[in-house]
Amino acid sequence: MRYIEPHAHMVSRVTDDYERMALAGCQAVCEPAFWAGFDRRAAEGFRDYFFQLTEHEPRRAARYGLKHFCWLCINPKEAEDVKLAAEAIALVPSFLDRPNVLGIGEIGLNKNSRNELRALEMQVDMAARFDQLILVHTPHLEDKLKGTKLILDVLKNDKRIQPGRCIIDHVEEHTARMVLDAGFWAGVTLYPETKCTPARAIDIFEKHGGERLWLNSACDWGMSDPLAVPKAALEMKRRGHGAKAIDRLIFENPRAFLRQCPKFNLER
Ligand SMILES: [Zn+2]
Repeated sequence: MRYIEPHAHMVSRVTDDYERMALAGCQAVCEPAFWAGFDRRAAEGFRDYFFQLTEHEPRRAARYGLKHFCWLCINPKEAEDVKLAAEAIALVPSFLDRPNVLGIGEIGLNKNSRNELRALEMQVDMAARFDQLILVHTPHLEDKLKGTKLILDVLKNDKRIQPGRCIIDHVEEHTARMVLDAGFWAGVTLYPETKCTPARAIDIFEKHGGERLWLNSACDWGMSDPLAVPKAALEMKRRGHGAKAIDRLIFENPRAFLRQCPKFNLER
């Protein structure tokens, strides 16, 4: 089995996880910038984090033959502080040329507040100006449907944004269709407790087909499983899906999306 982990917060994981992922067939791991589990008190905290994502983590991953890529932004959870958000966003462009940076993410909404929306619009504008791919975090639970609609509106209203260059992550049964119908890519996140179990994720795959869909673990400092993607592949196999369909969902699909950034090259 070969797979790509398109969404993992490896700064929060132990080195053993890199080894386990490599043993399970992982070819590349992609790390969106996110909340650290606590609020950073100054924009300089983001600068250090961006150095960690672009210099330190690729070195850790390389010890296990894994390629490490990342996305940069201020996440919606910390974007409530307007001044901090503006300062953090201003730091991003100077990192965009780094060899493992794929685009802007994970931007989006958390509580669907006005300030979060403002930071989202600023970062969508930045992605358009610098011609970057976009990775979007959608809110959890009862905020998800409304938040997903608000996010799609922001992206659709900016005529510079091509839906095929945006992945809307953490979709569930009630949001997958609207994302795919609008031409965006959809990410299904596998979590032991919240978000999707492997069985629910494969139900979504069977219902909507595998076009523009990927799976990820979004493993971080909370309850999560860095091997969730290969485990979902086992669930597919158990249900009788062939090796080709599995490979397409967990390897070829993420590769097709990510290769839109020329830096995503697994051969080099
Ligand atoms: Zn995430």
